[in-house]
Amino acid sequence: MTKIGWNFDNSYSRLPESFFTSQNPKPVTSPNLVVLNEPLAVFLGLNPETLQSEEGTAVFAGNKIPEGAEPLAEAYAGHQFGHFTMLGDGRAILLGEQITPQGERVDVQLKGSGRTPYSRGGDGRAALGPMLREYIISEAMHALGIPTTRSLAVVTTGETIIRETLLPGAILTRVAASHIRVGTFQYAAGKGNIEDLKALADYTIQRHYPILIEESEKPYLSLLQEVIKRQAALIAKWQLVGFIHGVMNTDNMTISGETIDYGPCAFMDVYDPATVFSSIDREGRYAYANQPYIGGWNLARFAETLLPLLHDNQEQAVQIAQEEISKFIKLYQTNWLAGMRAKLGIFNEEEQDESLFEELFNLMHNGQADYTNTFRALTFAQYDDIKFLGTPEFLQWKERWQARLGRQKETEEESNQLMRTSNPAVIPRNHRVEEALEAAVTQGDYSVMNKLLQVLSNPYAHNPGQEEYCTLPESSTRPYQTFCGT
Ligand code: AMP
Ligand code: MG
Ligand code: MG
Repeated sequence: MTKIGWNFDNSYSRLPESFFTSQNPKPVTSPNLVVLNEPLAVFLGLNPETLQSEEGTAVFAGNKIPEGAEPLAEAYAGHQFGHFTMLGDGRAILLGEQITPQGERVDVQLKGSGRTPYSRGGDGRAALGPMLREYIISEAMHALGIPTTRSLAVVTTGETIIRETLLPGAILTRVAASHIRVGTFQYAAGKGNIEDLKALADYTIQRHYPILIEESEKPYLSLLQEVIKRQAALIAKWQLVGFIHGVMNTDNMTISGETIDYGPCAFMDVYDPATVFSSIDREGRYAYANQPYIGGWNLARFAETLLPLLHDNQEQAVQIAQEEISKFIKLYQTNWLAGMRAKLGIFNEEEQDESLFEELFNLMHNGQADYTNTFRALTFAQYDDIKFLGTPEFLQWKERWQARLGRQKETEEESNQLMRTSNPAVIPRNHRVEEALEAAVTQGDYSVMNKLLQVLSNPYAHNPGQEEYCTLPESSTRPYQTFCGT
């Protein structure tokens, strides 16, 4: 049989020892491959057929260490709901860094692979439902054009895990540009070893921002600036599709600018800026409208870790850091405005655009309009589909919008084309995701999930046959709730 195609080069394991613990995943009793991302496998230079063999399953289960892998658990820290804690991969093992045929370096990580020195009270395992959920939503995010970790495979372990009830265990194979987080820098800073902090910063620049090595005279300042830029762009993209991360702790914010940690995340149906899904987020710290501000807060924590590298004089270092952090919200806003213009078919910039958008959101909020479907209805001029689109207030807004479109040189057709490619028809709606998980977990029927994945892989297609994926759930008495750490 053709080889799987592993091509590991493990640079993380060459960092100072304090950053990780070398450890193999803990084997499981009877693994079974239930989902494999074939296009992603090919992109990674891996052979999908061989991955489906017993050997592939054994690797995804942590029962076999592939050639060239150097398994390890990463150490990190983080502010969880504002409280600083030392953390680390408590249920994940990095197998190694796969070098793709295009020469890209990506982490291949098993999630749910057993206890590590960072597990604290946890069992190191994961349940099937949440791992399938991460698979669906991360792949949907990728298809929406939002930087994210990817999902390569899910195996069931044949073992039962104990949560509030007994659940089938599973392992997700996650692929990421890297797993370096704000929390990784907090870990280094918290240890108080400048040499290690510098080693991490240099490593991160080399891995994610290599251009700075030659082009920047102040690489650590540039690193801070670049991370701020990527997060401003990322969070704007979340807001534009109504994505709520749910647990924006600093250990869940990457330095690469990819979305990571699909625990309690969910997409908003009805527009409400105060939307929270996570069962443990009782104060709404990570509510939809707060995400940009939390992003800024997390980046301030990142900047703090870099202080000793920014200037020898502490006060000056603080000043430099503060100046950069203060630019974040503006940068976020610029990204968001650009995205909103595209969603409404606008090409050029006008001072009044922001108020045009705000007015629409007020109407949506008052009219309890579905976020995604409102923009879809505007794209296709289907004003009968949504109740508030018939109100006099909306008609007034629409006139203002149409007048705005009239003040640009692009044609109606060009404007409409822009809207089609900026407003997804399908998002992973909570009730659709739940339905897919239910069939898979309780009946071993993956057909519902596979169909959903297929539709989500082309979210801007606006195919007539996808109508059933665009409808809202039947009104439910209980708000949708999501959970962490399952
Ligand atoms: P999260 O809330 O998913 O960002 O996880 C926070 C921390 O808890 C991380 O260090 C995880 O590795 C750890 N963790 C989550 N679930 C488990 C588990 N079942 N066993 C051990 N550690 C866990
Ligand atoms: Mg996490
Ligand atoms: Mg998690």
